[in-house]
Amino acid sequence: MQSAISLSLSSPSPIARSAVTDASSPAPRSLRFCGLRREAFDVKASFDAPSLRLNRFNLHSKSSNSCKVFAALNGNGTPPSGGFDYDLVIIGAGVGGHGAALHAVEKGLKTAIIEGDVIGGTCVNRGCVPSKALLAVSGRMRELQNEHHMKSFGLQVAAAGYDRQGVADHANNLASKIRNNLTNSLKSLGVDILTGVGTVLGPQKLKYGKGDNIITAKDIIIATGSVPLVPKGIEVDGKTVITSDHALKLESVPEWIAIVGSGYIGLEFSDVYTALGSEVTFIEALDQLMPGFDPEIGKLAQRVLINPRKIDSYTGVFASKITPAKDGKPVQIELIDAKTKEPKDTLEVDAALIATGRAPFTQGLGLENINVQTQRGFIPVDERMRVIDANGKLVPHLYCIGDANGKMMLAHAASAQGISVVEQVSGQDHVLNHLSIPAACFTHPEISMVGLTEPQAREKAEKEGFEISIAKTSFKANTKALAENEGEGLAKLIYRPDTGEILGVHIFGMHAADLIHEASNAIAMGTRLQELKFAVHAHPTLSEVLDELFKSAKVKRKPPLSSEPKPPLIFQWLKSARLIKLLSQFQSRLPRLQ
Ligand SMILES: Cc1cc2nc3c(=O)[nH]c(=O)nc-3n(C[C@H](O)[C@H](O)[C@H](O)COP(=O)(O)OP(=O)(O)OC[C@H]3O[C@@H](n4cnc5c(N)ncnc54)[C@H](O)[C@@H]3O)c2cc1C
Repeated sequence: MQSAISLSLSSPSPIARSAVTDASSPAPRSLRFCGLRREAFDVKASFDAPSLRLNRFNLHSKSSNSCKVFAALNGNGTPPSGGFDYDLVIIGAGVGGHGAALHAVEKGLKTAIIEGDVIGGTCVNRGCVPSKALLAVSGRMRELQNEHHMKSFGLQVAAAGYDRQGVADHANNLASKIRNNLTNSLKSLGVDILTGVGTVLGPQKLKYGKGDNIITAKDIIIATGSVPLVPKGIEVDGKTVITSDHALKLESVPEWIAIVGSGYIGLEFSDVYTALGSEVTFIEALDQLMPGFDPEIGKLAQRVLINPRKIDSYTGVFASKITPAKDGKPVQIELIDAKTKEPKDTLEVDAALIATGRAPFTQGLGLENINVQTQRGFIPVDERMRVIDANGKLVPHLYCIGDANGKMMLAHAASAQGISVVEQVSGQDHVLNHLSIPAACFTHPEISMVGLTEPQAREKAEKEGFEISIAKTSFKANTKALAENEGEGLAKLIYRPDTGEILGVHIFGMHAADLIHEASNAIAMGTRLQELKFAVHAHPTLSEVLDELFKSAKVKRKPPLSSEPKPPLIFQWLKSARLIKLLSQFQSRLPRLQ
């Protein structure tokens, strides 16, 4: 059938053409970056990138010079009101601080960012970015090594191998590139980058750097992030007992590595290490692996990501003592029962990776100056990221975003919280819906999720007295997935059948991390399933997994098709029949009109 709609694919309109930028020019001010997407803007580096330092800065280091590195190039907002040096000062130039700074400039706020180490923080230098570079390699290695998979395409591949230093360089180079992009985007938008440790002296007052430069700001955002959490009894030497900070440098690929903790960081590293030839032993304190995931998705993921690989595991045990390899002796791991604390076993392995979570970093921040007490290390905040003091009162003009507040320790959450705060300080109330923020684990295949897990949804439903329903679709029925020979996968929807509200979506399968956004955007916008069912997806694409998922939901309430109530069908029919009659009368008169 021929479509009546024609799409013009000719050259862009003058407006569109003028918006095209020269890749060599700095990021234009009008260009809207959002969250990590800013990294994609590859601004040419006009300075030498700082070398990648994997350790947190030394707070008392004599070499931590304080200086304003980059003065505002583009004006950076109008002079701040109220006699302050800045409208907004952000402590910490990780992804959270960066996101906040860019949005602040867009809002016309005179903005400075204080960084004690290197721009980009954990995500860029020691987290998301280098880990995804390693995972890109592990994905390819895994595919090339899978003879059966290759044969099913009719491909023949000689034995796949890798050069460890080459793989490590790929991760390091990507981190430098993204760090340069982030730095340049701050510079080109005129954000003042102040180097040194930032300390809050009181409301609206801070100091930074060795020279104790004092500045004032109408509003302050703390975005100081987190560091690897190393439980008591574990001795990290950076060579044989390591954290993710060390592992990302890939200085070695141990034959046998124990990974303590089976959360998303441990799981991603198991994907990397097993693809590169290591054997992995998981040590997990809880009774099951991957405790943070929806149990059904976790089970499936375990069947695909763990069982067929060279991975074994201990669950319900603590690694109470870990001693690095020394004098020809391997790494020693003492295990105790997580509940009874009775000794269980001793393991001897080549290396141990401690992936037991992240601890907020608030050292040197001067929280005592504003009577703020951390809770399990995290800075307490309300739903608007406003800092709460030890008496339960809001500290005026002080906010905390990202890993340091512990609400959701993800890069895009940090950035979204930063943007939300900037909205508030520039006069727009804004509360971020954390239930709409997706999360992903970049294993092969990937796992992604948004909203509640099934047990969480059941608990909420019971408490609030509503019903929940579950819908599932398999990747096995998806043409694109089958063409790629990647039919192993499942999408699961948890929803309210009475209202069509999405409570949670969990996906395990190829490109799950990209697929989740349709669900997360729907939650953020409040779109109901009865409306989503009419959304059209290109064929054949993986997105049809979600198309099918939404369509298979059984919602009791009909969609509101328009704001006005519809007349009964018979009147609608009569109306259209009358219209057709009128049109045909008009047509029959056309020759006479000529
Ligand atoms: C191995 C690994 C993989 C990860 N993968 C992902 C992923 O795929 N997706 C995802 O969303 N998240 C991922 N994360 C989590 C993500 O990296 C963090 O959630 C994110 O970096 C938090 O951003 P932030 O801005 O809060 O803090 P950070 O990125 O930690 O930045 C804080 C910055 O503040 C600076 N600072 C601290 N104190 C001071 C001070 N007093 N003065 C001046 N500067 C200071 C620090 O030097 C640092 O640069 C990963 C983390 C790890 C460890």
